[in-house]
Amino acid sequence: MNHVNGGLDIIGKKFGRLTVDSIFRKNTQGAPVYLCFCDCGGIARPGRQSILAGSSRSCGCIRAEMLSKRRRRHGLSDTRIHRIWKNMLTRCSNPKVECFKNYGGRGISVCERWRVFENFFADMGQPPSPKHSIDRIDVNGDYRPGNCRWATSKEQAQNKTTSRSVKAFGKAMTATEWSSRTSISSARIRARIARGWSEEEALTIPMGSFRKPRVGLQGSKSPLSKITEAQVLQARKERSEGVHYLETIKNLGITRGQYWSAILCWKHL
Ligand SMILES: [Zn+2]
Repeated sequence: MNHVNGGLDIIGKKFGRLTVDSIFRKNTQGAPVYLCFCDCGGIARPGRQSILAGSSRSCGCIRAEMLSKRRRRHGLSDTRIHRIWKNMLTRCSNPKVECFKNYGGRGISVCERWRVFENFFADMGQPPSPKHSIDRIDVNGDYRPGNCRWATSKEQAQNKTTSRSVKAFGKAMTATEWSSRTSISSARIRARIARGWSEEEALTIPMGSFRKPRVGLQGSKSPLSKITEAQVLQARKERSEGVHYLETIKNLGITRGQYWSAILCWKHL
């Protein structure tokens, strides 16, 4: 046996797609078994003999690619799982398709391993039903093992809402993360944003409070936008002095809605 230097002689060398990293263990005859990294990101643990004989040249991905080519000729390309795989690659890599902007355009990619159909199929298997499609658990993460599952469209919509990030005060975090810093529940934060609140409002206005009216915004059609801070303060002053609200409305030339928003909603003044 040619174990030069205890087998350390081929460490760092390349055989096919494999780069020998270290001796993993010795086999029963005392010959080294190596830990190798494959160009595709996979690992392999071939024995010395099989490396030197040229029979170990990849982690198995070369074989998978050959199988894949053969299968393609046999018409497996017409199955749903194959279309799912192909569409996944397309939306991450082809800027000409409409949905690219939501995938490849956002930096979402398909891991090296899954660019071979056989590997993808080996990891994901068939979808459990025609209603299931591929879903990324972290919506900002790549298509890769560990971040993908089969899910129905309902489950996917749920996942999108819960992991969509909320950008406020120059930071982006999920509603759950914001919730732990603000004492407003994540469900409430999401519901407020869905109702059109700004992110900052959704995170800062205490639970149970109304949103303050948008005041003085140019072009706003809401009558609430016409009330000024001075009017709010005056309305409150008169209320504390026991002035009847109809009288205050007349004095200030505001509507009932504006009066009550001044009393109830303007918590920040
Ligand atoms: Zn490989």
